[in-house]
Amino acid sequence: MIQFKNVTKKYHDGTLALKGINLEIKAGELITLIGPSGCGKTTTMKMINRLAEPTSGQILVDGQDISTLNPVELRRNIGYVIQQIGLFPHMRIKENVAIVPKLKKISRDVYEKRVDELLDMVGLDPAQYRDRYPAELSGGQQQRIGVIRALAAEPSIILMDEPFSALDPISREQLQDELVRLQEEVKKTIVFVSHDMDEALKIADRIVLMKEGEVVQFDTPDRIIRRPKNDFVRHFIGGNRLNESEQLTVEDVMITNPVTVFLSRGLAHGAKLMKQHRVNSLLVTDRYRHLKGIVTREMLEERYHQEDLSLQQIMKSDVVSVAVGTMVTEAVEVMKQHGLSNLPVVNENGQLAGLVTNSSLVDALLKQI
Ligand code: ADP
Ligand code: MG
Repeated sequence: MIQFKNVTKKYHDGTLALKGINLEIKAGELITLIGPSGCGKTTTMKMINRLAEPTSGQILVDGQDISTLNPVELRRNIGYVIQQIGLFPHMRIKENVAIVPKLKKISRDVYEKRVDELLDMVGLDPAQYRDRYPAELSGGQQQRIGVIRALAAEPSIILMDEPFSALDPISREQLQDELVRLQEEVKKTIVFVSHDMDEALKIADRIVLMKEGEVVQFDTPDRIIRRPKNDFVRHFIGGNRLNESEQLTVEDVMITNPVTVFLSRGLAHGAKLMKQHRVNSLLVTDRYRHLKGIVTREMLEERYHQEDLSLQQIMKSDVVSVAVGTMVTEAVEVMKQHGLSNLPVVNENGQLAGLVTNSSLVDALLKQI
């Protein structure tokens, strides 16, 4: 939906801000641009609504080269939220929110209703807030208005440049939560600039990590944590986060109720369990909870036509597992080495203690933030 093709930017004073950026942002994604100050995040973002023009290269929105579009028209269809809020102090909240809808000649009934809906959406009672002036709101409330103003004209793209960075930590957290919830409801394409990796890991579907005018890694938070492309990324994710996770053991991150099944059960039972619990593999145990094997969906499907087989007969019995007390970093290493998306944890008696999964790992890492 938004494509950057070999985009460079050289400012008039000779600063080479972007050195050939290629990006493909899908519709409905929340993308975070992140990197050290001066790496080109704002420049990249401003090119999407033509507040900055590329020196070379192309930017396409829905396949259309935006250099051929009227910039004013383009901007009306792209929401924009910046750190300094930018609410008009002499206008009431309802007027601030309705600026673009008015410019677009949307009828008054429609946009007034919309303003109330949006206020509701961010937890501000319309009756109480719509007629106030910006100065009568807290910083966090004003920034909420900034966000809903960007949504008011129903743009398909919203650009946000460090929108929450001036807020106190609690308001920032709340607004991040609200943004993610809002995104689930409205499904806009959101490009969000941040210099805060914690924020990016929390809210982004995918993260664009930039350095000195180049994209270093464009990946999901999960993969950025797991497979940092180089030392710069590793460093940027936060030495401290890695150090903290070095202290963690698998018990801190595993789920303790993975789906298990007895050795002697049949294939149909296994299939039913997978369906019921929405999993793609089952851990096979004996009655003493000793881990004996693993059965995947593919293994089941392959042999399903053979009736009267037990799971024991089709399972993979040399399961890679780790012991209770194993460091998380080591467990991640094992998963990487064997290409596993989950890893059973067993106690000293060989009994199943839990399962480390991709999502349990990320949840645990994010909880530490
Ligand atoms: P970021 O948002 O990542 O901090 P910017 O995109 O604002 O970075 O800036 C990237 C580089 O371009 C920096 O070196 C910055 O000083 C420079 N730059 C930004 N805007 C201008 C401008 N209008 N004129 C000249 N140089 C600029
Ligand atoms: Mg910036």
